Amino acid sequence: MRSVLLKEIGLLAMEDIPVPEPGPGQVLLRVSRCALCRTDAKMWSQGQRDLILPRVLGHEICGIREGTDERFVVWPGEACGRCVQCVGRAENLCEEMKILGFNRDGGLAEKVLVPESSLISVPAALADDAACLAEPLACAFNALEQANLSAGHTLLILGGGAVGLLIALAAKTAGACPFIVEISPEKLSKSEAFRNRLDIRAGASCDYGSFDVAVNACSADDTLLAGISRLKSSGCFCFFSGFTGEKPFPVKALNEIHYRQLRVVGAYGCTRAQMARSLPVLDEFQKEVRLLIEQEIRLGETAQGLSTVLAGEVLKIVVNMEA
Ligand SMILES: [Zn+2]
Ligand SMILES: [Zn+2]
Repeated sequence: MRSVLLKEIGLLAMEDIPVPEPGPGQVLLRVSRCALCRTDAKMWSQGQRDLILPRVLGHEICGIREGTDERFVVWPGEACGRCVQCVGRAENLCEEMKILGFNRDGGLAEKVLVPESSLISVPAALADDAACLAEPLACAFNALEQANLSAGHTLLILGGGAVGLLIALAAKTAGACPFIVEISPEKLSKSEAFRNRLDIRAGASCDYGSFDVAVNACSADDTLLAGISRLKSSGCFCFFSGFTGEKPFPVKALNEIHYRQLRVVGAYGCTRAQMARSLPVLDEFQKEVRLLIEQEIRLGETAQGLSTVLAGEVLKIVVNMEA
């Protein structure tokens, strides 16, 4: 079967690989759509903590179970179910976690092998391309859950790409009031239709009010101090996008945390339950979320697609495996 294989950092190849054989508890899915994520582009350009090479990339999948017409999205984790994290319902932090497209082969291929327990049914009216956004939306739910965002809270989102916009959608459904800061005027104009339909405010600067919660939806490290200094006392900064480089944590930010009793929480991935929660939201706001999908490409155009993602100027690209 055709696949997009990351052979080593920087080297992506279209390769024919054998169709995997399902073992006990596993299911073979025919991939219909796989959305490209900034993490895929990052793995290609610089690697990632959980990446094991060579690897078929892709973790935002909608597929059809072989021999049926049942459509599913896939929770990308494979957790042990026994460790303290799994028992505590934080299976995204499982001590033996294997992530689709990171340390087992993902969905940028004609077929993908997944645990049956990771399948989540797609509502009948939800299109395959919009269903792919279940995973990033679930990661947004996880971030807001870690930060204890509640109805009536104000939320500062640093970064107005697809993830920042999905965090804003998740916040809206929780009854909170999000404000997005995005420095790129092109990106702000690209998201205008989405934001207008959902009444989400946005601007180019951070000089605005004070917030209950702030979350970084981009990897620029100045977002840390920017977010922390915009929090109300006892507010919470959610560290959502990982940073690269070796810059030390600014002392000014540490003192803000100390004197104003701020909380800092991390968020990584999502649980199966959070993914299941995101599907009805995508179903309800399907028209809006489809505005985030800027390009649909073929599998053979993946490298070009990832370059566009890396340049940071595109909202969402979806690979159509049926094209
Ligand atoms: Zn992703
Ligand atoms: Zn576990």
